[in-house]
Amino acid sequence: MAGLVGEYYVLLRSLRRIKPHLRECLTRCRHCRIFLFTHPRNAGRHDLRCAFGCRQAHRKQESTRRSVAYYRDPEGRKKKAALNNRRRSPATSPAGTEKVGSSNQAPSRLSEIMVQYVRVVCSLIEGRRVSRSEVLEMLRKVLRQHSIGRLSKIDYIVRQLNQNPP
Ligand SMILES: [Zn+2]
Repeated sequence: MAGLVGEYYVLLRSLRRIKPHLRECLTRCRHCRIFLFTHPRNAGRHDLRCAFGCRQAHRKQESTRRSVAYYRDPEGRKKKAALNNRRRSPATSPAGTEKVGSSNQAPSRLSEIMVQYVRVVCSLIEGRRVSRSEVLEMLRKVLRQHSIGRLSKIDYIVRQLNQNPP
């Protein structure tokens, strides 16, 4: 893991060298302190969490906290029941869940967070708004071209980015 973080930092440093104006978009995760790029609208913020697990862990925590609060409050219980009924109704179930890679499962929350992070970084590198579908297409290509083996998808993507610096 340390080696991977090292590679990631080499990538960040070369990015900052090539694009000095991105310096202000560089910040640290408030939880694990890893460096990360953020959207210019978040420049200067120090309360962000990284896409490598901290954001996911925080969301999980928050949703647990919310449901605990719901169940303690009778009014909340009613709302929650209504929400669950709506979720069960097929008319309002989320449609067209996009997939990354060849897996038949919908992307996990972590990979969705990762897709968003890759999107922010690509947009910064290219100096334009890179769409989510472009990022998905790129990730699909990368994942299709190589067998992932024992590397997790995320490790793999970071490694690919390192091998093909902008
Ligand atoms: Zn973190």
